[in-house]
Amino acid sequence: GDACPRIELRSLTKASGVAHNRLSKLYLPSGTVSARGESKESSTDVLIRAGYIRKSSAGIYSLLPLGTIIQRKLMAIIHRSMSMIGASEVSLPALLTPTAWQATGRWANTEIYKLKDASESEFMLAPTHEEEITTIVADEVSSYRQLPVRLYQIGKKYRDELRPRAGMMRGREFMMMDLYTFDTTVENAMATYEDARGAYDFIFKSIGVEYAVSEADSGSIGGDLSHEYHYISSAGEDKLIKCDSCDYAANVEVAASFPPEEHAGNPFEVAVTYGLLDDGTLLVIYHPPGRKVNENLIKRELPTYQMGEEDPVGSVVANGDMMLQKMIRIYDERVPENSSLPDLPIQVNIGNITTLRFPCVEVDPENFPNEQCPSCEGGVLTASKAVEVGHTFYLGTKYSKPLKATYQSKDGTQQIIEMGCYGIGVSRLIDVIADVTRDEHGLCWPVSVAPFEVVIVTKPKSEEISDAATTLYQHLTDAGCEAIIDDREDKSFGWKLSDARFLGFPANVIIGNKFLKTGLVDVESRRTAEKVECKIDEVPERIS
Ligand code: ATP
Ligand code: MG
Ligand code: MG
Ligand code: MG
Repeated sequence: GDACPRIELRSLTKASGVAHNRLSKLYLPSGTVSARGESKESSTDVLIRAGYIRKSSAGIYSLLPLGTIIQRKLMAIIHRSMSMIGASEVSLPALLTPTAWQATGRWANTEIYKLKDASESEFMLAPTHEEEITTIVADEVSSYRQLPVRLYQIGKKYRDELRPRAGMMRGREFMMMDLYTFDTTVENAMATYEDARGAYDFIFKSIGVEYAVSEADSGSIGGDLSHEYHYISSAGEDKLIKCDSCDYAANVEVAASFPPEEHAGNPFEVAVTYGLLDDGTLLVIYHPPGRKVNENLIKRELPTYQMGEEDPVGSVVANGDMMLQKMIRIYDERVPENSSLPDLPIQVNIGNITTLRFPCVEVDPENFPNEQCPSCEGGVLTASKAVEVGHTFYLGTKYSKPLKATYQSKDGTQQIIEMGCYGIGVSRLIDVIADVTRDEHGLCWPVSVAPFEVVIVTKPKSEEISDAATTLYQHLTDAGCEAIIDDREDKSFGWKLSDARFLGFPANVIIGNKFLKTGLVDVESRRTAEKVECKIDEVPERIS
């Protein structure tokens, strides 16, 4: 009998799901609850004050335990949606060599963090992973039989953002989910694109915050198909035009990053920094690629612009002609018919830096003209600030061609793989969800991502209440509810009540003096502030 080997499958990780059930055991450095309702406080600042995150430096953040729980919940939704469309998870390096980026022409991109090792070899911190994943797939795939391939990851990205001032919404280091798809034909790539959009709808519907989808202007990205997913928020840096009677939406933000075009080896290659002047003029500064435009020049040209202010300033590296056309198009769109503005651009040369000035009309979100909707009859358009939370791209052969990702087709010919790429800003989502759902009492998470569903708030220093909380915790856990006990003894009961609202879990159960006298607890909805009284064992049925 002992000749038969036993395979031990019980893994240690299964035993590690020990739930935190007490706030006192969770690392939660709470701020002062008193200064609530400051309307100007950013959601990032609220997240810091509530103990979810910490700021390391401009655009770089640490997640504390409550922050990581939200991130994990977002990741779980994403993993589910990715498995629904048959995508497999990978984990690609953050530290890359420039080889593939030189091949695609993107090494000149100004947003890349570049570094050298001790032997002066060049490296970069990955701002995105098209080059890396395409290289992997190009090495492995040789036949149509190996396609389609769908690969995704959730990992850190690094971008030298010119204006990292939207808190965690615009990080220089941030968490992104990125999916890359590889197909044989355009037709198959289109079907994949629709699958990915289905996955996006699953993700954004699961999160449960209202979102808008806009078809990106195909003119600006060379005819590629692309959609952007936005949350409406005053903290946003995009401007979204939405129709009130159909689902038409478009992003008109002048400072949006224009995707870099194929500019490898192009003699017209330039970098462009652009911004809007106070008098409504669009300022365009052309300068040598590979580095940012001198900050002093921006200050001279945009005298009212302070690094860290509201003015939209963006930067791209692109084919000079393409960029010029794009600017002229913006100019055309923004100058109203019959206006008496002069025929510009005026060109100013400062050394090897060229500055173009276009008169243009800034789209004012408050007073956006009620034009007729281009997609339905009689719809009225409104403009609002918005945050881009996701982006889908049909890429065609943009990366597969320069990186030689090819396959042998059924008929024996060599073909180039058709690609798509899709990104969702996970750390941006934490911040923007916080922003659009919060109220004057603090954070107010949707159930989908709330770190806990219920917090049991106990009056300190009572053994009877502490025992009742433990019993209630057990009832809630048995009912499949994620609960936590606020058993912190060093805080007053009143402080704990407002902190519970500030932390923003969907339901609060309050065990205080009333319980000692009558055996009743208060069950309170964080969002609506509706309250019911009930006995401990009735609580689970009050929370659905
Ligand atoms: P933006 O227009 O805001 O600069 P992007 O168009 O450059 O974003 P993509 O390259 O499309 O961003 O990346 C995919 C997703 O990653 C975006 O939709 C966004 O949600 C997120 N993202 C991009 N840049 C940042 C950033 N600096 N910090 C946090 N999330 C980001
Ligand atoms: Mg964008
Ligand atoms: Mg960007
Ligand atoms: Mg984008």
